[in-house]
Amino acid sequence: MDVKKPRGTRDFSYPEMEDRGHIQESISAVFERFGYRQILTPTFEHVELFAQKSGDEITEHMYVFEDKGGRKVCLRPEATASVCRMYSEELRDMRLPLRLYYFCPMFRYERPQKGRYREFWQLGMELIGSKKAEADAEAILLAYESLKAIGLSSELEVGHVGVLRGLMNDLGIAADVQDKATAAIDKGDRDGLMYLTESDVLGRLIGLKGTSDAISEAEKLLSDYPTASAALGELKEVLNWLDLLAVPYKVNLGIARGLEYYTGMVFEMRVPALAAQNQICGGGRYDKLIELFSGLSVPAVGFAFGFDRVMNAIEHQGITIPKKQVDVVVAPVNDEVRKAAFKITADLRGELSVDLDVMGRKLPKIMEYAAEVKAKYVLIVGPADLKENKATVRNMADGKQETVDLKDLKRRLKELCR
Ligand code: AMP
Repeated sequence: MDVKKPRGTRDFSYPEMEDRGHIQESISAVFERFGYRQILTPTFEHVELFAQKSGDEITEHMYVFEDKGGRKVCLRPEATASVCRMYSEELRDMRLPLRLYYFCPMFRYERPQKGRYREFWQLGMELIGSKKAEADAEAILLAYESLKAIGLSSELEVGHVGVLRGLMNDLGIAADVQDKATAAIDKGDRDGLMYLTESDVLGRLIGLKGTSDAISEAEKLLSDYPTASAALGELKEVLNWLDLLAVPYKVNLGIARGLEYYTGMVFEMRVPALAAQNQICGGGRYDKLIELFSGLSVPAVGFAFGFDRVMNAIEHQGITIPKKQVDVVVAPVNDEVRKAAFKITADLRGELSVDLDVMGRKLPKIMEYAAEVKAKYVLIVGPADLKENKATVRNMADGKQETVDLKDLKRRLKELCR
């Protein structure tokens, strides 16, 4: 039988899983220092959850199927809609704000390439309950601090979809056309945007990038458009917070995001040296999504790291991740001592990482194995030593050996392995 894994999926062997685990734990630790608590939603959801507000970019790529009960379900393509559903279903009585985070796989039927997979992981957060600019700033600061903690450099761009939609409202553009126009902006399809909106002002607005100069330009451009100007004021407030917190950023009024539920500030982080798929993080404010599911008007802001792209960027920037190593390989020299060796191993495993020969191999072969798994020490358990309640510790780095009393063994090995 020649069965291969499905296209766009990956197997992760243990060296890779250990690296991923290390980075995930480092970022999660920052999230927890900001007061975020981990949650998990189901891998599959009812298809309607995403149908209304996640946008065509997401819904066109969903894995949809009918279950045996005839219900239309899909594999989760993103988590924000799920978290909002969970809030409505499970958390609506909790005191606000809620600071939640998640780490789980997402599924999108996209064309696979480096940095784009059909199963990929997101590490993301949602800050539910505040409409203040400082909540937006906290989300951005958390993303920034997370990357700092793992030593990854990236570029942050901040925009505001309320400015884009506000202008389209002021121009009297219908809501369905606005969704299409926003998708065109997200794809960088300028011609499509012009065809849909015929607005030169919008065309100029999305080209504004930079620092305070981009904001002054936008202020001039939007002076006759009150809704857009008000939204621009909100963006300025968020930027003031970022200045205060010394988070470096660029303004980009052309960020639209593929997801339709965003209502305010939006941001993206990129590692430009990664070729095509260089956006490692995306997020923003969505003040109407929870209302859609619960009827409650609860504002929120969130973002997600594309975890696989973070890992690609780490590799690309040559960041070294500490490697796990087996402390001790226990080597029983014959069958007579196997039981005693297992008992010694069980005791050591309380505090050290210990690998025991379970193959019945001879000592030279166990040594070869220990060298291959890069063990720090081999504990040789032999009948003569054992009679005197002793065992021999061999340092794999220099081949030096010492005989240790069993009662002192754990203390001594811990000392050596430190
Ligand atoms: P989104 O949920 O579309 O806002 O995406 C958030 C982040 O997830 C992006 O910035 C990417 O880093 C990552 N991402 C999105 N789609 C994929 C994919 N197909 N493969 C890997 N990462 C992805």
